[in-house]
Amino acid sequence: MRIKVLSLFPGIVRGFFESSIMAKAVDRGLMSYELVDIRDFATDKHHKADDQVFGGGAGMLMLPAPLSRALEAAGSPGVRTVYVTPSGRLFNQAYARELAAEKELVIVCGRYEGIDQRVIDSYVTDEISIGDYVLSSGEVAALVIVDAIYRLVPEVISGESLNEESFGSGGEQALLEYPQYTRPADYASMRVPEVLISGHHAKIARWRLRASLEKTLAFRPELLAVSGLPDEVRKLLNEIVAEGRNHEPDTDDPGTPDALRSRGV
Ligand code: SAM
Repeated sequence: MRIKVLSLFPGIVRGFFESSIMAKAVDRGLMSYELVDIRDFATDKHHKADDQVFGGGAGMLMLPAPLSRALEAAGSPGVRTVYVTPSGRLFNQAYARELAAEKELVIVCGRYEGIDQRVIDSYVTDEISIGDYVLSSGEVAALVIVDAIYRLVPEVISGESLNEESFGSGGEQALLEYPQYTRPADYASMRVPEVLISGHHAKIARWRLRASLEKTLAFRPELLAVSGLPDEVRKLLNEIVAEGRNHEPDTDDPGTPDALRSRGV
Protein backbone atom coordinates (compact mmCIF):
# COMPACT_ATOMS: atom_id res chain seq x y z
CA MET A 1 0.00 0.00 0.00
CA ARG A 2 1.22 3.49 -0.83
CA ILE A 3 0.28 6.50 1.34
CA LYS A 4 0.95 10.12 0.47
CA VAL A 5 0.53 12.69 3.23
CA LEU A 6 0.13 16.33 2.19
CA SER A 7 0.96 18.80 4.94
CA LEU A 8 2.37 22.23 5.67
CA PHE A 9 4.48 20.59 8.39
CA PRO A 10 5.51 17.13 7.08
CA GLY A 11 8.23 16.93 9.74
CA ILE A 12 5.49 16.19 12.29
CA VAL A 13 4.62 12.90 10.58
CA ARG A 14 8.08 11.83 9.34
CA GLY A 15 9.14 10.15 12.60
CA PHE A 16 6.17 7.79 12.48
CA PHE A 17 7.04 6.50 9.01
CA GLU A 18 10.71 6.08 9.94
CA SER A 19 10.12 4.14 13.17
CA SER A 20 9.13 0.76 14.52
CA ILE A 21 6.61 -1.45 12.71
CA MET A 22 5.99 1.07 9.91
CA ALA A 23 9.74 1.29 9.14
CA LYS A 24 9.88 -2.53 8.99
CA ALA A 25 6.81 -2.67 6.73
CA VAL A 26 8.48 -0.16 4.40
CA ASP A 27 11.74 -2.18 4.41
CA ARG A 28 9.78 -5.33 3.57
CA GLY A 29 8.07 -3.57 0.66
CA LEU A 30 4.59 -3.93 2.21
CA MET A 31 4.19 -0.16 2.58
CA SER A 32 5.59 2.89 0.83
CA TYR A 33 5.03 6.56 1.51
CA GLU A 34 5.64 10.08 0.35
CA LEU A 35 5.48 13.20 2.51
CA VAL A 36 4.52 16.23 0.47
CA ASP A 37 5.18 19.77 1.69
CA ILE A 38 2.24 21.79 0.36
CA ARG A 39 4.30 24.98 0.67
CA ASP A 40 6.58 23.66 -2.12
CA PHE A 41 3.62 24.22 -4.47
CA ALA A 42 3.19 27.90 -3.58
CA THR A 43 4.52 29.97 -6.48
CA ASP A 44 5.03 33.38 -4.87
CA LYS A 45 8.37 34.31 -3.37
CA HIS A 46 7.13 34.06 0.24
CA HIS A 47 5.55 30.62 -0.33
CA LYS A 48 2.27 31.93 1.02
CA ALA A 49 -0.11 29.11 1.87
CA ASP A 50 -3.05 30.77 3.67
CA ASP A 51 -5.36 33.78 3.53
CA GLN A 52 -8.37 35.32 5.27
CA VAL A 53 -11.79 33.65 5.17
CA PHE A 54 -14.43 35.22 2.89
CA GLY A 55 -17.38 36.48 4.93
CA GLY A 56 -15.18 37.39 7.87
CA GLY A 57 -14.34 35.61 11.08
CA ALA A 58 -11.19 34.83 12.95
CA GLY A 59 -8.42 32.71 11.51
CA MET A 60 -6.97 31.89 8.11
CA LEU A 61 -7.76 29.27 5.50
CA MET A 62 -5.28 27.29 3.41
CA LEU A 63 -5.08 28.68 -0.11
CA PRO A 64 -6.70 26.49 -2.77
CA ALA A 65 -4.06 26.82 -5.50
CA PRO A 66 -0.94 25.41 -3.77
CA LEU A 67 -2.98 22.57 -2.27
CA SER A 68 -4.62 21.77 -5.63
CA ARG A 69 -1.23 21.63 -7.33
CA ALA A 70 0.09 19.35 -4.56
CA LEU A 71 -2.96 17.09 -4.99
CA GLU A 72 -2.52 16.92 -8.78
CA ALA A 73 1.15 16.00 -8.29
CA ALA A 74 0.07 13.29 -5.81
CA GLY A 75 -2.21 11.70 -8.42
CA SER A 76 -5.56 12.95 -7.13
CA PRO A 77 -8.20 12.79 -8.62
CA GLY A 78 -7.86 9.12 -9.43
CA VAL A 79 -6.77 8.05 -5.95
CA ARG A 80 -8.92 7.85 -2.83
CA THR A 81 -8.25 11.19 -1.16
CA VAL A 82 -8.91 11.80 2.52
CA TYR A 83 -9.21 15.20 4.16
CA VAL A 84 -9.02 14.96 7.94
CA THR A 85 -11.52 17.34 9.49
CA PRO A 86 -13.66 17.52 12.64
CA SER A 87 -16.68 18.01 10.37
CA GLY A 88 -16.12 14.67 8.61
CA ARG A 89 -17.55 11.16 8.97
CA LEU A 90 -16.46 9.55 12.24
CA PHE A 91 -13.54 7.14 11.88
CA ASN A 92 -13.81 3.62 13.29
CA GLN A 93 -12.38 0.12 12.81
CA ALA A 94 -14.78 -0.75 9.96
CA TYR A 95 -13.72 2.42 8.13
CA ALA A 96 -10.06 1.52 8.76
CA ARG A 97 -10.67 -1.90 7.23
CA GLU A 98 -12.30 -0.32 4.18
CA LEU A 99 -9.36 2.04 3.61
CA ALA A 100 -6.79 -0.71 4.21
CA ALA A 101 -8.10 -2.43 1.08
CA GLU A 102 -6.95 0.50 -1.10
CA LYS A 103 -3.67 0.22 -3.00
CA GLU A 104 -3.02 3.93 -2.71
CA LEU A 105 -4.26 6.70 -0.44
CA VAL A 106 -3.72 10.45 -0.32
CA ILE A 107 -4.28 12.21 3.02
CA VAL A 108 -4.58 15.99 3.32
CA CYS A 109 -3.75 17.59 6.69
CA GLY A 110 -5.49 20.88 7.41
CA ARG A 111 -4.07 23.82 9.38
CA TYR A 112 -5.53 27.10 10.61
CA GLU A 113 -9.31 27.04 9.94
CA GLY A 114 -8.91 24.28 7.36
CA ILE A 115 -9.07 24.17 3.55
CA ASP A 116 -11.16 25.86 0.83
CA GLN A 117 -14.43 24.01 0.07
CA ARG A 118 -13.65 24.05 -3.66
CA VAL A 119 -10.61 21.84 -3.05
CA ILE A 120 -12.83 19.43 -1.12
CA ASP A 121 -15.38 19.44 -3.96
CA SER A 122 -12.71 18.82 -6.62
CA TYR A 123 -10.44 16.22 -5.01
CA VAL A 124 -11.60 14.83 -1.67
CA THR A 125 -13.40 11.47 -1.65
CA ASP A 126 -13.51 11.06 2.15
CA GLU A 127 -13.84 13.73 4.86
CA ILE A 128 -12.89 11.95 8.08
CA SER A 129 -13.05 13.01 11.70
CA ILE A 130 -11.14 11.06 14.33
CA GLY A 131 -13.42 12.24 17.13
CA ASP A 132 -15.63 14.95 18.51
CA TYR A 133 -12.93 17.42 19.47
CA VAL A 134 -10.86 19.99 17.59
CA LEU A 135 -7.11 19.56 17.13
CA SER A 136 -4.89 22.42 16.08
CA SER A 137 -3.86 20.63 12.89
CA GLY A 138 -4.47 17.53 10.80
CA GLU A 139 -1.10 15.79 11.13
CA VAL A 140 -1.96 13.92 14.33
CA ALA A 141 -5.36 12.95 12.91
CA ALA A 142 -3.69 11.71 9.71
CA LEU A 143 -1.32 9.57 11.78
CA VAL A 144 -4.21 8.09 13.75
CA ILE A 145 -5.77 7.01 10.47
CA VAL A 146 -2.50 5.75 8.97
CA ASP A 147 -1.73 3.77 12.13
CA ALA A 148 -5.18 2.14 12.21
CA ILE A 149 -4.95 1.26 8.50
CA TYR A 150 -1.43 0.00 7.81
CA ARG A 151 -1.47 -2.63 10.56
CA LEU A 152 -4.43 -4.22 8.71
CA VAL A 153 -2.43 -4.51 5.48
CA PRO A 154 -1.71 -8.24 5.02
CA GLU A 155 1.56 -9.43 6.62
CA VAL A 156 2.35 -6.14 8.39
CA ILE A 157 1.42 -7.81 11.69
CA SER A 158 0.09 -11.29 12.41
CA GLY A 159 -3.56 -11.93 11.59
CA GLU A 160 -4.01 -13.67 14.94
CA SER A 161 -3.14 -10.52 16.90
CA LEU A 162 -5.72 -8.61 14.89
CA ASN A 163 -8.54 -11.07 15.53
CA GLU A 164 -8.00 -11.10 19.28
CA GLU A 165 -8.20 -7.37 19.89
CA SER A 166 -11.00 -4.84 20.43
CA PHE A 167 -13.35 -4.70 17.41
CA GLY A 168 -11.17 -7.51 15.96
CA SER A 169 -13.98 -9.74 14.79
CA GLY A 170 -15.54 -6.78 13.03
CA GLY A 171 -19.11 -6.54 11.83
CA GLU A 172 -21.66 -7.76 14.27
CA GLN A 173 -19.64 -8.80 17.31
CA ALA A 174 -17.56 -5.71 18.04
CA LEU A 175 -16.49 -6.12 21.67
CA LEU A 176 -13.83 -4.34 23.67
CA GLU A 177 -10.83 -6.46 24.49
CA TYR A 178 -10.68 -8.38 27.80
CA PRO A 179 -8.06 -7.46 30.47
CA GLN A 180 -4.64 -9.02 29.93
CA TYR A 181 -1.78 -9.95 32.27
CA THR A 182 1.86 -10.98 31.95
CA ARG A 183 4.55 -12.30 34.35
CA PRO A 184 4.83 -12.34 37.31
CA ALA A 185 1.56 -14.02 38.29
CA ASP A 186 1.73 -12.16 41.63
CA TYR A 187 2.46 -8.47 41.34
CA ALA A 188 2.05 -5.72 43.93
CA SER A 189 -0.17 -8.05 46.03
CA MET A 190 -2.46 -8.67 43.05
CA ARG A 191 -2.83 -12.12 41.53
CA VAL A 192 -3.64 -12.96 37.93
CA PRO A 193 -7.09 -14.64 37.62
CA GLU A 194 -6.39 -18.37 38.24
CA VAL A 195 -8.19 -19.51 35.09
CA LEU A 196 -5.59 -17.75 32.91
CA ILE A 197 -2.78 -19.92 34.29
CA SER A 198 -4.88 -23.11 34.32
CA GLY A 199 -3.96 -24.13 30.77
CA HIS A 200 -7.65 -24.93 30.17
CA HIS A 201 -8.25 -23.32 26.78
CA ALA A 202 -12.05 -23.57 26.73
CA LYS A 203 -12.33 -22.02 30.22
CA ILE A 204 -9.88 -19.26 29.27
CA ALA A 205 -11.89 -18.49 26.13
CA ARG A 206 -15.10 -18.27 28.17
CA TRP A 207 -13.47 -16.07 30.83
CA ARG A 208 -12.19 -13.74 28.12
CA LEU A 209 -15.56 -13.53 26.39
CA ARG A 210 -17.27 -12.76 29.67
CA ALA A 211 -14.64 -10.15 30.61
CA SER A 212 -15.02 -8.57 27.16
CA LEU A 213 -18.78 -8.42 27.57
CA GLU A 214 -18.50 -6.91 31.06
CA LYS A 215 -16.10 -4.25 29.86
CA THR A 216 -18.18 -3.44 26.78
CA LEU A 217 -21.30 -3.23 28.92
CA ALA A 218 -19.56 -0.82 31.30
CA PHE A 219 -17.79 1.45 28.79
CA ARG A 220 -19.59 1.10 25.44
CA PRO A 221 -23.04 -0.51 25.92
CA GLU A 222 -24.17 0.79 22.52
CA LEU A 223 -21.79 -1.72 20.87
CA LEU A 224 -23.93 -4.53 22.26
CA ALA A 225 -27.09 -3.19 20.65
CA VAL A 226 -26.68 -5.30 17.53
CA SER A 227 -29.08 -7.97 16.38
CA GLY A 228 -26.33 -10.32 15.17
CA LEU A 229 -24.89 -11.35 18.55
CA PRO A 230 -24.50 -15.16 18.50
CA ASP A 231 -26.88 -17.03 20.86
CA GLU A 232 -24.05 -18.12 23.15
CA VAL A 233 -22.86 -14.53 23.53
CA ARG A 234 -26.37 -13.16 24.03
CA LYS A 235 -26.99 -15.80 26.74
CA LEU A 236 -23.81 -14.86 28.58
CA LEU A 237 -24.69 -11.18 28.29
CA ASN A 238 -28.12 -11.86 29.81
CA GLU A 239 -26.44 -13.71 32.70
CA ILE A 240 -24.14 -10.76 33.35
CA VAL A 241 -27.04 -8.31 33.26
CA ALA A 242 -29.12 -10.52 35.61
CA GLU A 243 -26.20 -10.78 38.05
CA GLY A 244 -25.79 -7.01 37.90
CA ARG A 245 -29.49 -6.66 38.70
CA ASN A 246 -29.16 -8.99 41.74
CA HIS A 247 -26.15 -7.15 43.09
CA GLU A 248 -27.17 -3.62 42.14
CA PRO A 249 -30.90 -2.95 42.51
CA ASP A 250 -30.34 0.65 41.39
CA THR A 251 -32.41 1.12 38.21
CA ASP A 252 -30.20 4.02 37.15
CA ASP A 253 -27.32 1.58 36.78
CA PRO A 254 -26.45 1.45 33.05
CA GLY A 255 -26.11 -2.35 33.33
CA THR A 256 -29.70 -3.09 34.40
CA PRO A 257 -32.03 -4.73 31.87
CA ASP A 258 -34.26 -1.65 31.81
CA ALA A 259 -31.34 0.66 31.20
CA LEU A 260 -30.04 -1.69 28.51
CA ARG A 261 -33.46 -2.02 26.90
CA SER A 262 -33.71 1.75 26.74
CA ARG A 263 -30.39 1.68 24.90
CA GLY A 264 -31.73 -0.98 22.54
CA VAL A 265 -29.52 -3.82 23.88
N1 SAM B 1 -12.42 25.25 11.61
C1 SAM B 1 -12.40 23.84 11.74
C2 SAM B 1 -13.74 23.36 12.29
O1 SAM B 1 -14.26 24.00 13.21
O2 SAM B 1 -14.23 22.30 11.86
C3 SAM B 1 -11.29 23.38 12.66
C4 SAM B 1 -9.94 23.55 12.07
S1 SAM B 1 -8.68 22.80 13.05
C5 SAM B 1 -8.19 24.10 14.09
C6 SAM B 1 -7.35 22.65 11.91
C7 SAM B 1 -7.22 21.32 11.23
O3 SAM B 1 -7.02 20.30 12.19
C8 SAM B 1 -8.39 20.87 10.42
O4 SAM B 1 -8.40 21.44 9.14
C9 SAM B 1 -8.19 19.37 10.36
O5 SAM B 1 -7.33 18.99 9.31
C10 SAM B 1 -7.53 19.08 11.69
N2 SAM B 1 -8.44 18.52 12.72
C11 SAM B 1 -8.81 19.12 13.87
N3 SAM B 1 -9.63 18.34 14.58
C12 SAM B 1 -9.79 17.19 13.89
C13 SAM B 1 -10.54 16.00 14.12
N4 SAM B 1 -11.31 15.83 15.19
N5 SAM B 1 -10.48 15.02 13.18
C14 SAM B 1 -9.73 15.18 12.07
N6 SAM B 1 -8.99 16.30 11.80
C15 SAM B 1 -9.02 17.29 12.70
